[in-house]
Amino acid sequence: MRDVVIIGSGCAGNTAAVYTARANLKPLVVMGHEAGGQLSLTTLVENFPGFPEGINGPDLVENIKKQAEHFGAEFVHGSVIEADLLSRPFRLNIEGEWIETRTVIVASGASARWLGLESEQKLIGHGVSSCATCDGFFYRNKRIMVIGGGDTALEEANFLTRFGQEVLLIHRREEFRASKIMLDRARANPKIQFVTSTVVEEIFDVSKHLVTSARLRNVSTGKVWEEPVDGFFVAIGHIPNTKVFKGQIHTDSEGYIISEGGARTNIPGVFHAGDVQDRVYRQAITAAGAGCMAAIEAERYLEAEGH
Ligand code: NAP
Repeated sequence: MRDVVIIGSGCAGNTAAVYTARANLKPLVVMGHEAGGQLSLTTLVENFPGFPEGINGPDLVENIKKQAEHFGAEFVHGSVIEADLLSRPFRLNIEGEWIETRTVIVASGASARWLGLESEQKLIGHGVSSCATCDGFFYRNKRIMVIGGGDTALEEANFLTRFGQEVLLIHRREEFRASKIMLDRARANPKIQFVTSTVVEEIFDVSKHLVTSARLRNVSTGKVWEEPVDGFFVAIGHIPNTKVFKGQIHTDSEGYIISEGGARTNIPGVFHAGDVQDRVYRQAITAAGAGCMAAIEAERYLEAEGH
């Protein structure tokens, strides 16, 4: 029987591990299918307090893991595939093995959203990507497409101009969700071409196992055309990883955990931390802070229950 199981090993989960390990609760961290979370997909993080020169995202999250291990946290690979949070103790199925725990910290984050085209799914890793910092390098002097109109899309488009010859930003509306500063920066970048009111209908060429072009449609004029392209980056937001808790932990219509205040969910003893609940701030530092809050709440809950 565990006192604390933390689901997720991003900034939120690992920080919760530091705090619960220091409280002598010997937490078990289930690392998940995207170990390290969003930070493991970034390069330089310049806004995490305490690093005047910045720090690499993967190094930052690995450092927090080491810090937690130093105090006795245990990390296991794999994901929670089933959960029973309606009876006590809570039961979690980790890759086929059930474990029991008195508290759970859900820090399972949010994963990239895809357009949902069959060709897109077939070409992931063959020209289709959701992570510019991971895959941009492969498109030196190539023609790149970025899909989306939020901060992520504009940030990725800017980043990809370091490698690509030209970056086409495809957005389904005329107005952008992105902040003004990101938009201004992208507009001032001569390598970025804006293609607005446009959707992607198909990506080619599945038969060649590589991206050669995309069929686009202007939603205002109805014009359909095929645009040659080598790299296709999808940056249309994220989906919270809460599927396994469906019907147990209360979520909103998009699947984000609804907070009951602090780090509390609707189930006493089950706490939330990071992007799985936060659709607003989504920063490394806020995730770390949320991990700390969840850990303190778990600690107090166990104490009140007499453990
Ligand atoms: P987002 O703000 O939710 O934007 C998603 C974009 O994708 C929207 O423009 C949306 O179009 C488009 N989209 C969604 N589904 C689509 C579909 N099926 N087909 C085509 N387009 C689709 O997501 P985000 O850009 O990932 O940003 C998430 C949060 O992180 C935001 O709060 C953002 O400010 C923050 N962030 C900040 C920074 C920074 O400050 N450096 C960097 C990255 C992210 P519509 O606009 O038409 O809905």
